[in-house]
Amino acid sequence: MKVLSDIEIAQKTQLTHIKNIAKKLNISEDDLELYGKYKAKLPLKLINEETIDRNNLILVTALTPTPAGEGKTTVSIGLTEGLNKIGKQATVVLREPSLGPVFGIKGGAAGGGYSQVVPMEDINLHFTGDFNAIEKANNLLSSLIDNNLQSRRNNLNIDPRTIAWKRVIDMNDRSLRKITIGLGGTANGIPREDGFNITAASEIMAILCMAKNRDDLKQRIGNIFVGFTFDKKPIFARDLNAENAMAILLKDAIKPNLVQTLEKNPAIIHGGPFANIAQGTNSIIATKMGLSLSNYVITEAGFGADLGAEKFLNIKCAAAGLNPKCVVLVATIRALRHHGGSPTDQYNVPSVERVEKGFANLEKHIENIRKFSIEPVVAINTFSSDTDEEVELIKSKCATLGVKAVVSDGWAAGGDGTIEFAKAVVDVVENKASKFKPLYNWKSPVVNKIERIAKEIYGADSVEYDNKARLDLKRIDALGFNDFAICMAKTQKSFSDNDKLIGRPEGFTITVREIEIAAGAKFLIPLLGKMMRMPGLPSKPASEEMKIDNHGKISGLS
Ligand code: ADP
Ligand code: MG
Repeated sequence: MKVLSDIEIAQKTQLTHIKNIAKKLNISEDDLELYGKYKAKLPLKLINEETIDRNNLILVTALTPTPAGEGKTTVSIGLTEGLNKIGKQATVVLREPSLGPVFGIKGGAAGGGYSQVVPMEDINLHFTGDFNAIEKANNLLSSLIDNNLQSRRNNLNIDPRTIAWKRVIDMNDRSLRKITIGLGGTANGIPREDGFNITAASEIMAILCMAKNRDDLKQRIGNIFVGFTFDKKPIFARDLNAENAMAILLKDAIKPNLVQTLEKNPAIIHGGPFANIAQGTNSIIATKMGLSLSNYVITEAGFGADLGAEKFLNIKCAAAGLNPKCVVLVATIRALRHHGGSPTDQYNVPSVERVEKGFANLEKHIENIRKFSIEPVVAINTFSSDTDEEVELIKSKCATLGVKAVVSDGWAAGGDGTIEFAKAVVDVVENKASKFKPLYNWKSPVVNKIERIAKEIYGADSVEYDNKARLDLKRIDALGFNDFAICMAKTQKSFSDNDKLIGRPEGFTITVREIEIAAGAKFLIPLLGKMMRMPGLPSKPASEEMKIDNHGKISGLS
């Protein structure tokens, strides 16, 4: 039998009108802001702080991934289908895909196989325009900064060499990383160096996802750190009177989007920060919306648990007062083979020895989740190349740690493939959920917070600081930003800051090269290694396989 591609499965599915999905969440039709028949924005008034803590938040994260991704989105959607099948009211709450990965290496981010959110083309491409609004708000600030350099009316004396704010575009475009602007004479601005980040790495994205409401959004935007004056005074976005106009551009982007899964269960999709350079999880508003409307909320945090889950728990849950009841750790046999030493061309070759060796990676992630007083469930996202021996080995090794490992077959079978898995999650929620506690207190000193993450989560022996990072620490102190959360920028390929150290590395040192300030988001971003805020395309981009016919039907989007 021919295996259908993700888009073929999605296009074969008969969608139901979004008002029918809203009905499942007891949202009145009048409250839906329709974007066609299958998408709607939800008004913020549907958030009900009183019910949030009574409902159950489940985080889906993963072991250290291979570049293809280990299926967190797919498993999150599959689990939602399975929970609904066993009679629970469950909603999946996810991030919006960025066009960079869609046309680059990874492809779309609307799940896969028989665990998808639909309409997948729309979700992967422009959706309801939120990314465009974020880009415009970001770039409005850029143009206000450059206008201020030029203007004689209200010149703030900004030193152009210190401007930290960059322009953004939602595209993988490495040639925009460093640019020169303002060329062409006095009418065309003050020449200076600038650059572009990808929209998913914009501080506006981070802020939108941390904001509690419109006032909070505005205040955070006003707090964005822009640069210094020639006499070394900090300049913030509020000094340019930017916050209201920027919040106006985000008037609809702040509202979560409702769509459906293939099995017609509710999906809320909102915000899309990357997890290696930003917080890697959807908006606080969307998660709270889900928990206001649904008994179970399943959400995902990007890349491995050392990045996505750590930030989800220490940043998002701590800031929003959320209490996750269970963490699902997605494991694939191919990633375990990889951590056990399989070269890339042998990821699909069975090897019990390599899986056994690679288990050390998963074990460290299990230990880490327990440091937050949360009980993990391991979901083995099965691929056709997995053997029973390999799967049994993972189950028995998890059992010796007291952790339940279950196969998740949602990719091939939708909710029918995740029933046992859904029951395992319900068992933890109903019988083993303990009270979540963050790993660090935001109020503790910056170096202590960084050290705690490095030692406890990554397993590092020590942390070193380059000269630039030491200067940044002094500047952070002078600006009074010590009690911000830490949002590490680190490779997703290893627990360490070195891509090559697979498995469970030990005895390593991590090096903080510099520390960026995201004052609006209330993050400090230690850069470990060379982290790109503007990715490039691979030599053969995913875009080359995509087609659209004369009827507007798209193929090759995965
Ligand atoms: P993540 O969210 O962890 O990055 P995704 O859920 O987006 O991962 O999955 C990455 C890719 O792998 C998708 O194209 C998806 O269709 C595919 N995939 C996921 N699970 C399976 C599976 N069990 N078998 C085959 N392909 C899968
Ligand atoms: Mg994903």
